[in-house]
This record gives sequence, structure tokens and C-alpha cells, in this order.
Amino acid sequence: MVVILLGPPGVGKGTQGARLVDELGWVRIATGDLLRAARREGTDLGRKAQEYMDAGDLVPDDLIVALVKEHLAGLGADTGVLFDGFPRTVPQAVSLDAMLPELSRKVDGVLLFEAPADVLFKRISGRRSSPEGRVYNVYFDPPRQEGICDVTGSSLVHRADDEPETVERRLAVYEEQTAPLISYYDAAPTRVMRIEGDRPMAEVEEAVRQELARELDVTVGSR
Ligand code: AMP
Repeated sequence: MVVILLGPPGVGKGTQGARLVDELGWVRIATGDLLRAARREGTDLGRKAQEYMDAGDLVPDDLIVALVKEHLAGLGADTGVLFDGFPRTVPQAVSLDAMLPELSRKVDGVLLFEAPADVLFKRISGRRSSPEGRVYNVYFDPPRQEGICDVTGSSLVHRADDEPETVERRLAVYEEQTAPLISYYDAAPTRVMRIEGDRPMAEVEEAVRQELARELDVTVGSR
């Protein structure tokens, strides 16, 4: 099974994706995470991607497609795959459609998360994280003391690409380059499952569970 999480930055795809792979035992391929890891490790890819990422622009398709190919190749044929943040352009989707049959796979479904732009803006630009991975939001879930993690006392960090100007750019890039994928998949035999992302987390989780069961016969364990 291959499922794509599609939707603008800040809509909650990452949170849902992490939970789903946990419960389903699938593998999550999140290109944004892979690129950030490449940057931390100082690889050639990381150096090439840096400038685009910090500006809120997309990394060129050929680099992304090569990265995904490398990660897909090592997987067993019956491992479920959840793509998070990929594909992000129509050419990336076309490349994915070309590489999957070689692995006896196809895109089975797309979970499309949607939310109003003002909510997305606050969700991303308000995000602050601790080095230990705890995430706060200055609008929706602030730490008790500004800039300090409640649990560890570490200083909170604002990702460069979460700065307000970059967030505006990332949202515009989504509309221009990624949103056309909605009609791409609507026109394909792929199941497109629409999820309203601007709701309490438990409701979003329930909607995802119902759609996956109804459209793809995939059961997410009740916790
Ligand atoms: P994300 O964590 O998914 O929001 O990704 C962070 C940044 O990594 C994006 O703003 C892009 O610069 C880059 N990126 C991640 N995935 C892709 C992709 N599929 N295509 C192009 N750029 C990407």
C-alpha cells in the first residue's frame, strides 16, 4: 500500500503521519525530515538544499526524486509506505508514477488535509521547539515562560523556515506548485480522501481512520 499525505504546511500532516505509521507499522518517507537530516550531516544534498529551504522555496525535483528512489529501493515489497511532503509538484508525481510499477506498486490513496490560510500561518509561524523535540506554539500552546521549555528548561528554537516571511512564501509556493496535485490525483484512479484539518486532533484522527477504512480497507488500530 502506498498512501500520500497532501496538504499545505502547518495543516497537521506530520503529526497524523507519525501516528499512522506507528499504528500501522508502515514506513514514513518525509522528504522535509530527510533534507533536514542531510543538512545536519553536512552531505552534498544537504548543502544543495539549504538555500531553497531557508527561503521557503522547493528543492529542485531531480534531487528530491533521487532521494525518494533511494529510500524506496531498500523497502520490502509488502511494506506500507506513507509519503509526507512528497510529491510537491506535478513533475514529482509523474516521476513517482513512473518509478512505482518497477517496484510492483502504485499510489493507492491520497489523504488531502485542508485548513484556512490564517490558521496555517499561526500554526507554523508560532511554532517553537526544544532541542529534545518538544513542540510549542506561541498562539495555541505557549510555554509557561517565553522561549523556555516547560519540561527541560532548554531554550526554544524557531526554525529558519518558520519565520513569518518564509511562511508566507511557503504557503504561496503550496498554492502555486503543490495544489495542482489535487486535480492530478482527482483525475487518476487514486482515491482522494478529504480531511478537514482545522479541528481538534482527536476528530482529525477519527476522520482519517474512517476514510482509510472506507476507501482503502485499511484498519488503524483503536487505541
Ligand atoms: P517540510 O518539512 O515538508 O515542510 O519541508 C521543509 C522544506 O523542505 C520545504 O519548504 C522545501 O524547501 C523542502 N522540501 C521538502 N519536501 C520537498 C519536496 N517534495 N520537493 C521540494 N522541496 C521539498
